[in-house]
Amino acid sequence: MRKVGIRLLRFKTGTPARVKKETIHLDELEIQPGEDDPIPFSSQTDPAEFDTEKQTPCYIVYTNEETHRIIHENIHRSAMYSGQIHGTGPRYCPSIEDKLVRFADKERHQLFVEPLGENTEEMYIQGFSTSLPTDVQRKMLRSLKGFQDAQIMRYAYAIEYDCADPLQMDSTLEFKEMSGLFGAGQFNGTSGYEEAAAQGLIAGINAARKIKGLKPVILPRSSSYIGTLIDDLVTKGTDEPYRMMTSRSEFRLLLRQDNAEERLLPIGHDIGLVSEERYNEYLKRQERINNEIARLEHMFVSPAAANILLEKNGESPVVTGVSMADLLRRPGLTYEKIMEIENSGLGLTGKEAVSVEIKVKYEGYLKHQLAAAEKIGKAEKQSLPTDVDYSQIDGLRLEARQKLNAVRPKTIGQASRISGVNPADIAVLMIWLQKNK
Ligand SMILES: Cc1cc2nc3c(=O)[nH]c(=O)nc-3n(C[C@H](O)[C@H](O)[C@H](O)COP(=O)(O)OP(=O)(O)OC[C@H]3O[C@@H](n4cnc5c(N)ncnc54)[C@H](O)[C@@H]3O)c2cc1C
Repeated sequence: MRKVGIRLLRFKTGTPARVKKETIHLDELEIQPGEDDPIPFSSQTDPAEFDTEKQTPCYIVYTNEETHRIIHENIHRSAMYSGQIHGTGPRYCPSIEDKLVRFADKERHQLFVEPLGENTEEMYIQGFSTSLPTDVQRKMLRSLKGFQDAQIMRYAYAIEYDCADPLQMDSTLEFKEMSGLFGAGQFNGTSGYEEAAAQGLIAGINAARKIKGLKPVILPRSSSYIGTLIDDLVTKGTDEPYRMMTSRSEFRLLLRQDNAEERLLPIGHDIGLVSEERYNEYLKRQERINNEIARLEHMFVSPAAANILLEKNGESPVVTGVSMADLLRRPGLTYEKIMEIENSGLGLTGKEAVSVEIKVKYEGYLKHQLAAAEKIGKAEKQSLPTDVDYSQIDGLRLEARQKLNAVRPKTIGQASRISGVNPADIAVLMIWLQKNK
């Protein structure tokens, strides 16, 4: 790849040990149950699959003084510290030895003990990834509360890998200088199953469309986390394994789980990836949601009826009639609660009801978010002084302070394109700039 002129990066990552469930004293650990009422992304998923009864819990355990002593005593044997591995590691899931060095003041670190599946004995010790040798791993593990008899089924390890600098690609994920070559996934500098799947989908769509002579599919940032991820990669690049997090989006009130289909399904239909049948069902769902919102806006309730519900839920009473939508906007009320007054609703599914509730309750915030996004777009042209010490600006995250000091951007726009400086940091910078004009 180097020979044909592709710029490569070198990253590292690791994984924790898998431990045999029956050898862990689970009763000594803190239980961490699943969500009470999980909502699937896709309306095609059978909600019965999310039967809470069927969920398997995770557990929480903490490292302790003894664990830290074992790690410190052996840290020179870690591949990451002995000089065998040089690549840049994932900022958001560092190895346990990395955590001990970087956060030396912490007396303990939280670990999640997660079952890998319903039909396996393997438990994943999230937060305990390491490149220490196997004898040390056994001792570290057995120092944890409840793990005194634990047996490792597969040891933890770390790896180093090459990937392409994604700045060489455009938003279709095709190399700018190499027509017909598309990149996706770990090859593009990301880490994570979802990141890889998201890019694979878009690169695949665009490769196929290119062959067919069709227009490429580019998802805007405001449409999805997929669009945000790809825009980040190709405009900001990355100097460490990139993970998609909600905080990377400036539109996160708009990028919700309940409206995933509304944002993306019509695009899928347009390009022939969603069947007519599924699309028509989606249209019917949207119609039900919109009709219900209109009904709530136009239906008024007498003060007497409203006040029974308001008082029961600790809300101040009303003196005149009030619309169902206004009731729903009260912080203490939910869609389910207002249905106690009037339940001739349209028989919405749980997921549709969530959409109605969010759209009505947060209407003001949603509008505000769109306006704020427009404002950020304009302010991107504002210039920044080059002699600022970003470590002194309150409100910036540590990562942003480090990156801004290293790059010293000339404009807010340039600052916003640096990997690791997120839209919330840009908002902080804009306020700072206004104050220090
Ligand atoms: C140790 C470790 C732990 C991780 N832990 C997590 C985690 O807990 N959670 C998470 O979300 N992500 C995790 N990741 C990251 C995640 O696994 C990867 O980012 C993701 O799997 C990348 O998917 P991909 O399709 O881009 O690449 P891959 O899954 O690597 O797929 C590339 C495929 O191409 C094949 N291939 C290569 N060369 C050729 C060739 N010449 N011809 C044909 N086939 C070829 C390879 O065999 C491979 O099957 C971890 C990664 C590692 C290494």
